[in-house]
Amino acid sequence: APLVVNATEYLTKAARNHPERTALYLGSSPWASYKDLARRVSALAGGLRARGLEPGSRVMILQRNAPEYLEAMYAAWWAGLVVVPVNAKLHPKEVSYITEHAGVRYRFETEGADYRRLLASGPLAEPDPQGGLAWLFYTSGTTGRPKGAMLSHANLACMTESYFRSVDEVPAGGCLLHAAPMSHGSGLYTFTHLAAGAAQVVPESGGFDADEVLRLCESHDEVSLFAAPTMVKRLTEAARASGRSAPGLRTLVYGGGPMYQADIHEAIAVLGNRFAQIYGQGETPMTITALSKFHHGDTAHPRHAQRLASVGVAHHGVEVAIRGEDGRDLAPGEVGEVCVRGGTVMSGYWEDPEATTRALRGGWLWTGDLGALDADGFLTLKDRSKDLIISGGSNIYPREVEEVLLAHPSVAEVSVVGRPDPEWGESVVAFVVARGTAPSAAELDRWCLEHIARFKRPKDYRFVESLPKNHYGKVLKTELRGRLDTP
Ligand code: ATP
Repeated sequence: APLVVNATEYLTKAARNHPERTALYLGSSPWASYKDLARRVSALAGGLRARGLEPGSRVMILQRNAPEYLEAMYAAWWAGLVVVPVNAKLHPKEVSYITEHAGVRYRFETEGADYRRLLASGPLAEPDPQGGLAWLFYTSGTTGRPKGAMLSHANLACMTESYFRSVDEVPAGGCLLHAAPMSHGSGLYTFTHLAAGAAQVVPESGGFDADEVLRLCESHDEVSLFAAPTMVKRLTEAARASGRSAPGLRTLVYGGGPMYQADIHEAIAVLGNRFAQIYGQGETPMTITALSKFHHGDTAHPRHAQRLASVGVAHHGVEVAIRGEDGRDLAPGEVGEVCVRGGTVMSGYWEDPEATTRALRGGWLWTGDLGALDADGFLTLKDRSKDLIISGGSNIYPREVEEVLLAHPSVAEVSVVGRPDPEWGESVVAFVVARGTAPSAAELDRWCLEHIARFKRPKDYRFVESLPKNHYGKVLKTELRGRLDTP
């Protein structure tokens, strides 16, 4: 598909080419045809302009997944406005911080009278022809205060193109199931299906419900969906428990956080080899590397298992390099910071020149993630540099320790962090959620001795009911570290 100036052109084109085709489903029921959708969106866009919102004004969307969510997003872009997506589960304090920082002028919330008034406004003929800033994406702040990554319509168009080349094709009869919060980068996958003139499905629950996802993969065909690793795990468990096999599932794209090997092997065993992985971050949504059928073939591929442990190769249209602290390129196999350059990378953080200078250097985005490339260009992530534990001068990647503990049959979930230690600099602590009867610390220690170097073993085990997570299922390590200050 040719690149567009305003991402909503995908919608106008689809409405012109196949007006009667269903564009949106709510659950299993058709919700709008392309013609209806374009008409409603242009009316909403007219309403936003009539309220005095000029191109470039920021509009927040604070809503659970709903068809109206997509309409609001397209309408804002149609009117040339900038969308600030915010997860509906954020704390009001976090929402006000973002509202103020971004200078938000209008807020879409759950559908109400205001929404109907906007809809009743006159249409705005065509999408704003300027392009420019489209999406102001506040990082979830798992490692600090949220920062607004600035992404343009051109970034979104590159992201869409890159999906087709690196992740999957989209058949015209296929559909995109929005099971993860649309306020995250995966919400931008909306364009892949708009560009293909295919359909989108919003679950009635407005959130992630594993049984509902399995049901929708029976009533729809050729379903693509994105799910974070915790969601994949829940889906696997639900499929195993119910015996449902998701016959309509085409591709499940996972990423956004580390996927443990035991979990992905289990998921493939239960649901079949219909998975693709992406590695991305808010600053370059969904598009640093990909590992899909384009890269490792089927499970019979001799290197399949080995490659499954990586996050794949650079996405189409981006370059990936591994650099040392001095900015030097490192050789294959050497661990350094992952740097990215390309059409999907943000132009900077909104009103935060210092953070921008730290993140963008000479056109390259420094991700804060540590990893190594192999000779074939496959990237293996070690961990985020902020989570790295340095004990007795040696680097310990929490992920490696987590992988080992997770393989123990009595461990359901685990998160490993460093604690300041007067003798070693830092020492390793594991927070463990048990599966069934909790194993003893001594038992876990024996397990670790069998599988990893002695110095990487946790010195302390904390058994907990659950791990603190953000709305996306990502473990909040800062909070875990905070708990260690008070013994
Ligand atoms: P903040 O940047 O404010 O801490 P966050 O961690 O939620 O918030 P995101 O942009 O949502 O920010 O997450 C991006 C990070 O998630 C990446 O930098 C990487 O550490 C991790 N990540 C993303 N995809 C993968 C993947 N496939 N495998 C392992 N880690 C991943």
